[in-house]
Amino acid sequence: MKVFKFGGASVKDAAGVRNVADLLQSVGYENTCVIVSAMGKTTNALEEVVKRYFENEDFEKTISGVKEQHITLAKELFENPTDVSNEISQFFDDIVSFLRRNKSPNYSYVYDQVVCCGELISTKIISMYLNSINIKNDWLDVRDYIKTDDTYREGKVNWSLTEQNIKKISPKGLFITQGFLGSDSNFFTTTLGREGSDYSAAIFAYCFNAESMTIWKDVPGVLNADPRYFEETQLLNHISYEEAIELAYYGASVIHPKTLQPLQQKEIPFFVKSFINPTENGTEVAKGEALSPEVPCFILKREQHLVRLSSKDFSFITEDKLSGIFNQLYDYQIKVNLMQNSAISLSLCLEDKYNNLDKFVADMNEAYKVQEENDVLLYTIRHFDDNSDKVVPTEKELLRQTVRETLQIVVKA
Ligand code: ADP
Ligand code: ASP
Ligand code: MG
Repeated sequence: MKVFKFGGASVKDAAGVRNVADLLQSVGYENTCVIVSAMGKTTNALEEVVKRYFENEDFEKTISGVKEQHITLAKELFENPTDVSNEISQFFDDIVSFLRRNKSPNYSYVYDQVVCCGELISTKIISMYLNSINIKNDWLDVRDYIKTDDTYREGKVNWSLTEQNIKKISPKGLFITQGFLGSDSNFFTTTLGREGSDYSAAIFAYCFNAESMTIWKDVPGVLNADPRYFEETQLLNHISYEEAIELAYYGASVIHPKTLQPLQQKEIPFFVKSFINPTENGTEVAKGEALSPEVPCFILKREQHLVRLSSKDFSFITEDKLSGIFNQLYDYQIKVNLMQNSAISLSLCLEDKYNNLDKFVADMNEAYKVQEENDVLLYTIRHFDDNSDKVVPTEKELLRQTVRETLQIVVKA
């Protein structure tokens, strides 16, 4: 089997869906499992629905908006869109009745039951469209295959069950299924974390022992910097698994960080290619040299917080205190992207996905003097050279750290 993954940008409109069909025809789709994300920014819109629901605001209008977008798209794709429009309406009506009935105050649980709709619908539309133009395929509900625990919004994969399930699929033909989703032991929907569809593809690739996996992106491959923030980027032709894991870990968002490990374990060749120019080589992630060409790689993480904790009484920040601080960070699901400590202070560059920073700071204020700098940028440069920090606005520098081939600089936004 081969595994392909198409993200939201590749299927954001009818032209995108047609392009997927053309792409499959040009590169071939025999014995291929295709993982697809929600269309465009659908996941964000569905997140908004959940937010409004919990804030007791009108969420049905937001749902109708998303539903209309999908129906409009279906009308552009299908000569007779009645069947597909009915399917789309059914998914959205199910969400509305779920929300009306729901009694659970668990935000993350409700989130997963609602947000999954984006992927379920996108794959339905694409599967039906491909069948309508004679690209025969089977639609699979990924929740019958990828099993997770019940950590809603961050489902942890049960690998043995998932592998058993996926191995039951006869590896012949073309399958279309959802990224980002799984289900727990009660068959409630779970999600694997935002941008998790790359990871879903890697799960399938691992369980199928796939011959390769390709993620189709709006860029020519992995570049040495995100073209949204840096000029004069260069295509990386080859990256080792280890280097790719490092780049993804530091925030090269073109690959979801969890994607690499399953692929590396079975040494499955992994390609990042352009859905606009699908026959170009793109980037190959495989065994071999770390990076080709050997150039510095720049990564920018935004919306970071720099927090400096210093002891109030001039006492050392020792292991017991550090472990208390890190336990709190873990409990609040605050991610540490950089740390630097001295005898009586600890500086942390933090990412606060779940808006818990104020609570953490309040807790820390009891024992430490806390200095907080919000909205800072974290630049990471792998394989830096003497000129590398020229791209960083160093006049606003707050902190700098070098560990072997990695230079990190925190600056004010
Ligand atoms: P998907 O449609 O699969 O969700 P993403 O938007 O997650 O795609 O990933 C593609 C985007 O990743 C590109 O548009 C680009 O802005 C960004 N990106 C970040 N870092 C890099 C990099 N090093 N190389 C290429 N693209 C990058
Ligand atoms: N649709 C999900 C998201 O936007 C998963 C993905 O696209 O990878 O986060
Ligand atoms: Mg994405």
